[in-house]
Formats: sequence, structure tokens, C-alpha cells
Amino acid sequence: MMSTDTDERIDLVGLTREELVGELARLGEKPFRAKQLWHWIYHQGETDFAEMTTLSKDFRAKLAETHKVSRPGVATEQTSIDGTRKWLFRLADGKEVETVHIPEEDRGAVCVSSQVGCTLACKFCHTGTQPMVRNLTPGEIVGQFMAARDSYGEWPSPSDGSRNLSNIVMMGMGEPLFNYENVAKALTIVMDGDGIALSKRRITLSTSGIVPEIERCGAELGVNLAISLHAVRDDLRDELVPINKKWPIAELLDACRRYPTSSNARRITFEYVMLKDVNDSDADAHELVRLLKGIPAKINLIPFNPWPGAVYECSSNNRIHRFAEIVNDAGYSSPVRTPRGRDIMAACGQLKSASERARKFSERAQTA
Ligand code: SAH
Ligand code: SF4
Repeated sequence: MMSTDTDERIDLVGLTREELVGELARLGEKPFRAKQLWHWIYHQGETDFAEMTTLSKDFRAKLAETHKVSRPGVATEQTSIDGTRKWLFRLADGKEVETVHIPEEDRGAVCVSSQVGCTLACKFCHTGTQPMVRNLTPGEIVGQFMAARDSYGEWPSPSDGSRNLSNIVMMGMGEPLFNYENVAKALTIVMDGDGIALSKRRITLSTSGIVPEIERCGAELGVNLAISLHAVRDDLRDELVPINKKWPIAELLDACRRYPTSSNARRITFEYVMLKDVNDSDADAHELVRLLKGIPAKINLIPFNPWPGAVYECSSNNRIHRFAEIVNDAGYSSPVRTPRGRDIMAACGQLKSASERARKFSERAQTA
């Protein structure tokens, strides 16, 4: 049995500033109340109306009857030996998503999911083998980040920049540009200067290449862009990243050339998963360099993370380093991403799979 939340009060988390003003107007409250509430919710991280002491007692009591400030429930939380932390969050309808925190010396990125599952079926990605369940709401997207903050006790939002949760990467489960409206609302909330106040430079959105939405994302959000490229020829990319049949490499790279970051010294990241004997030859590396000519780019070489049933293997270390060398020699930064949190299966792109399996096993055990 899946547990569902029976609390039907309206969640304030996930409403934009305008929506919050509207919600309070319905209760007969003036717009400045929205500003105060916003500060409590997104700067202080407060979830209990009773603690919001700048608001009148009556107003607090009235709000608590009809509204709530919620968080996704934590189903499990695991911390890897390298410090990577992974949460499995249970949403109000019982569905689950995973979120990962990847700590670094003086900062840390939270890898956030945008959908439960994914409608696309990239052949090397485990999320793609799961049936798509649904889009996440703005509140569920922001909620992942806020719950991660709870876990580190990092409230109020540090004014001098956060050490643990300084960046967001939209690289968890799902294709964020297929849930554009909700992702855009969530990121607008996160960027609001009176609350969490993350700058757009600290946010990266990763996409498999939904060309029309890339343009919108650039114009409306201006966050950093990462492209899951993975292949330099259309025939191969059609196979690995099937959305390529709709928006092939040339169109995708044109959209990248038009992306606003590429004109103000910020680079676009190209993700390239290293698949043995599939996309990892010297010729592939040279072609990659040729394709990216004129785009301010950084190339992330990602060692393939195998999962049970995957048809691919990861390229050898030597191969990956030779590939990196060619790309580097052409003047592109091409870090090889060291896999983090392997012991807790925290690699982006294979989120949820392990817990899903574990649950299926326990369900079977219960019905046996
Ligand atoms: N849907 C978006 C964002 C989520 S996937 C996208 O595709 O960009 C985040 C990244 O993880 C993508 O670059 C994806 O290609 C990569 N990835 C997926 N499965 C992987 C695996 N098994 N090993 C390594 N990287 C993987
Ligand atoms: Fe979806 Fe991204 Fe995985 Fe492709 S790589 S199936 S777009 S999550």
C-alpha cells in the first residue's frame, strides 16, 4: 500500500510571489503580508506558522487552518563514504523521487529531479527504463532543495553564500524542459532575492535537447545550460538519445549558439557519457571538437555507470584520458567527472532504480 497525505490544506511552497499575493488577497490580507511570509518560508526556512512572529497571532491561526508550508517526506536518507548524500522523498500522493547532494570543498550542488520517471528512453539511462508517472509540481521541485537544506540545518539562507548547498543542477530524474512551466516557477522562486536567493549563475539545467524550450529557458531564466550530447553523429545519437530524431545535432547546436550565456563569458556544458567502442574513438573526439567550434563550451566526460540489464560498458580509463586529451588540446576544458556516491547508487541518471527494486522485493515478500 502506498501512503498518501490526507492533509488537504493549500501548500504555500511552490506559489510564485504573484500567486502568494493573490492567495492572501483571498483571505483579505494586504500584499506586504506576502513579503513577510515569503521571508519566513524561503529565507528562514520556517514551516510552522506559530513561529512566524512578525505576523499577528490571529493571522497565523487563520493561516494554519487553511494553509501549510510543507516538505516532501523523507523515505530514506543515505550518506556515502565520500560525503554524497541521497534522499528518497515521498510525495503527497505516495510517488517517490530522488535528490542528491554532492559536496565539494567550499560549495555543494543539489541534483534535483523534475519528473517522476522520464518519457524519453535514452538507451544508457536507467531512469528512461521506468514508466513515466508524472511531472513534479513547482512545490515538489523547490521542496527537494528545501528539504536538503533542512537536512544540513542550513537556515536561514546564508547571506554570504552557502557552503553546503550553493548550487542547483537540474540533472535528477526526468527531462526538465518537458516540464518547463513548473521548473521555471520553481527556479524563479529559488532565485528570488528575498528568499533562497541563488543566483542564476549557480543553477544549471541539463537537457537532452528540447530545442524550442532551450530558447525560452535562455530568455526567461538565463540559467547555465548543460546539453546531454553523448554522440557526434545523428545515426548514433538517434539510437542513444532518441529525441535526436526530432531535433538533430545541427539544430541543437544552433540553439546553443543562440543561448544567451554563450555571449557573456559563461560556457555551455556538454555532457558526454563514455561508452566502450560506441562513442569513444579518437575520431569521435576530433569530430566533437569540430562540431563545437564557435560555442564557448566545457565538455564533461562522464564514465558510464552500469546498471543491471544495460547493454553498454564503460570505456577504459586510458580511452577516457586519451579522449580528454584530444578535446583539451583543442582548447576545451574537459574534466572527467569522477563518479560520486557509488556506494549508495547516487549517480544522476540512475536515481531511484535501487530503491525501486528494493521496494518491489519487499512488496513481493509481503504478498508471498
Ligand atoms: N533529462 C536530462 C537531465 C537528467 S539526466 C538530461 O538527459 O540531460 C542527467 C545526466 O545523467 C545526463 O547527462 C544523462 O545523460 C546522464 N546519465 C544518465 N544515465 C547515465 C549512466 N548510466 N551513466 C552515466 N551518466 C548517465
Ligand atoms: Fe530522460 Fe535524461 Fe535519462 Fe534521457 S538521459 S532518459 S532525457 S533522464
